[in-house]
Amino acid sequence: MLKVKDLNVETNEGKKILHNIDINILDNEIHVIMGPNGSGKSTICKSIMHHPSYKITNGSIIYNDKDITNLDTSEIASAGIYYISQSPIEIEGIKNAELIRTSMLDNGHKMDIITFNKKCNEVLKKIGLPKDFLYREVNMGMSGGERKKAELFGMFMLEPSLVILDEIDSGLDVDALTTVANSINDYKKELKASFIVVTHQEKLIELLKPDKVEIFANGTIVKRGDYSLAKETLEEGFLKYTNQKDKDE
Ligand code: ADP
Ligand code: MG
Repeated sequence: MLKVKDLNVETNEGKKILHNIDINILDNEIHVIMGPNGSGKSTICKSIMHHPSYKITNGSIIYNDKDITNLDTSEIASAGIYYISQSPIEIEGIKNAELIRTSMLDNGHKMDIITFNKKCNEVLKKIGLPKDFLYREVNMGMSGGERKKAELFGMFMLEPSLVILDEIDSGLDVDALTTVANSINDYKKELKASFIVVTHQEKLIELLKPDKVEIFANGTIVKRGDYSLAKETLEEGFLKYTNQKDKDE
């Protein structure tokens, strides 16, 4: 379970971005985060991972009773949190199979090479990637959709208990989107894992049917609810939340 308590975050240059964020994520729960551009959705995802561009000035992040607020990103990953960024980076000279095998060994997932190869093939099939994917360099020359599938490949191999997906839908066609949604639902069911999904994509939200929804505006959570709040927000937009802030000022 993840407990984000009264989190305040600013950039290293001192620009305040997140104010008093509280989020509790139970095991086997899908949370969808929605909100207008610039409302702090990516910043909360990156802050959980202790991204070096941001400073936590107050509050804490507890994961399965362990305080991870000040841990290194690699230690947070080892604690079972997996982050899929809005724009996965290219890594020249490193092949997908090498990256995943090394990450697995580093995180204590010992697996003999035959079992590893077998599992790779099963996962590739599940998410619709060709076998030569394993021998391609990480994200080099890959389309937006292939990059997102590559990240999902890592998820299935590394078996994290909490997955953070920041706008995984961007650049995906409808078939890829369905594959992504099915992958998330299957994974949740198989591993009782939890998800934070930042998205405004109607189809993805419908396929995921999130347990909880948080609406961000101006760096804070302005409304909480369930699947019905996501549907209402898709229909009505965010204006009422951003206007509210203007009225308060
Ligand atoms: P969202 O993902 O909701 O679109 P972000 O979390 O990326 O929003 O950004 C929230 C606000 O913080 C925006 O106004 C953005 O410009 C600002 N911001 C985010 N990261 C930085 C940074 N490293 N330096 C300066 N401003 C930043
Ligand atoms: Mg963002």
